[in-house]
Amino acid sequence: MTEREVRVRFAPSPTGPLHIGGVRTALYNYLLARKLGGKMLLRIEDTDQNRFVPGAENYILEALAWCGIVIDEGVGPGGPHAPYRQSERKPMYKQYADQLIASGHAYYAFDTPEELDTMRARLQAAKVPNPQYNSITRAQMRNSLTLPEDEVKQLLDGGAPYVIRLKVPRKEEVRFQDLIRGWVVVHSSAIDDKVLMKSDGMPTYHLANIVDDHLMEISHVIRGEEWLPSAPLHVLLYRYLGWESTMPQFAHLPLLLKPDGTGKLSKRDGDKLGFPVFPLEWHGLDGETGEPTVSRGYREDGYLPEAFINFLAFLGWNPGSQQEIFSMDELIAAFSIERVSKSPARFDQNKVKWYNEHYLRAKSNAELAPYLLAALTEHGIACSQEKAEQIVGVMKERVSFPKDFWQEAKYFFQAPDSYDEQVISKKWNPQVAAALVAYADALPSAAEPTAEGLKGLFTQTMEAQGLKTGQVLQALRVAVTGAGAGPDLFETLVILGTEEVATRLRTAVTALG
Ligand code: GLU
Repeated sequence: MTEREVRVRFAPSPTGPLHIGGVRTALYNYLLARKLGGKMLLRIEDTDQNRFVPGAENYILEALAWCGIVIDEGVGPGGPHAPYRQSERKPMYKQYADQLIASGHAYYAFDTPEELDTMRARLQAAKVPNPQYNSITRAQMRNSLTLPEDEVKQLLDGGAPYVIRLKVPRKEEVRFQDLIRGWVVVHSSAIDDKVLMKSDGMPTYHLANIVDDHLMEISHVIRGEEWLPSAPLHVLLYRYLGWESTMPQFAHLPLLLKPDGTGKLSKRDGDKLGFPVFPLEWHGLDGETGEPTVSRGYREDGYLPEAFINFLAFLGWNPGSQQEIFSMDELIAAFSIERVSKSPARFDQNKVKWYNEHYLRAKSNAELAPYLLAALTEHGIACSQEKAEQIVGVMKERVSFPKDFWQEAKYFFQAPDSYDEQVISKKWNPQVAAALVAYADALPSAAEPTAEGLKGLFTQTMEAQGLKTGQVLQALRVAVTGAGAGPDLFETLVILGTEEVATRLRTAVTALG
């Protein structure tokens, strides 16, 4: 037998912004596809029109592009199995439901919503823990298994509303091998007679998903753990449709937990826990009030996509070594489904920040300068590319996000209007003030306006004043920048220029006495 081509799919439903768990699913699919030389598909599962949210599909495409997850086939690039939106594939599914009816694996059900409610109420009253339409209850309902054949025909011919349900066997073990969890065995009594076709002629998720995975020749289904309970039903569908020999391999990814491990990280947690749960900012409407809402995104919060992806890759997978920093190409080379964990992964806010700091510092000054320049333009401040590069160069060890450059580097453009009080109360005195004036006087004579040169001049001046540099250094920093801490002080003075430093020193001495 020839090796099967690896074809994986990311199959989100456009019901809102993509949660980071969804991005992780897309990422693992992508890593496996690239690692094994296969294809990554994007299919939009929009059969549930009630949950359709405008803008969600675009959001998904934009988020994947920002993350560097490239779609080979599907919504976006197109491909031989187009269309890739299930709503546009609607006419394709009916024949498979009909096939299941013809082979006795599915049936028509004519029950009205009221009849279904009555059935549930009756079962609840009888203390049945989980009332379901299944191999036992179906015998009391109005369907093509209980009604006489001619009545069924009459109903169908007369256009009576119906759904098509899968006829799940009563006593059978359904088993399949999950690439992450090993053998999964479920008794068919735990599976209900799921609806495959709705009364509006739309397939449900279950039917459409199996038909499409089959037609699109998907080799691996990698998805979140929340789909594990549906997998036995999907196995039955493959079997009854005669597709079991090409059934994809399943891999159900571990849950993502809140940082404290108390439960699943949900779409609503981001706002409550103070970090984004979406890759990009989302502008939506509140489900209850209909008011416009904005949910934070990693991109807008200043995370670099490399950091976000590196962090996500480790939420449920590890390379089996100490290495923590992986570019996308390195992830592709190192990834394997075998190293994906069964146990849930805890979200770690500090870790994603740590990754961001790492990737930020790894960037060249020329790459980082535009972030500062953009903020300066916004504030109407002119600055050369060269100066911006110098500033981000001294600042990058001290910031976590590109937007911090402006906040932290303001004093390069604006003289301080206040001085760190703690430092002043401990380090400022008339002798120090006089020494700083002496330094201001000496600055124009600095032979070399380099960090080394200005430091040498400072040491000399302090010696002449009878002071040790350690007694004045902090006061010098506060007088020039206003802040008690910052990047290398003499580098800072070089960037500011000796004239500006001298002016600021005199202003500080006048202000502080
Ligand atoms: N449409 C499903 C979702 O939104 C896809 C599940 C699957 O991958 O089979 O998660």
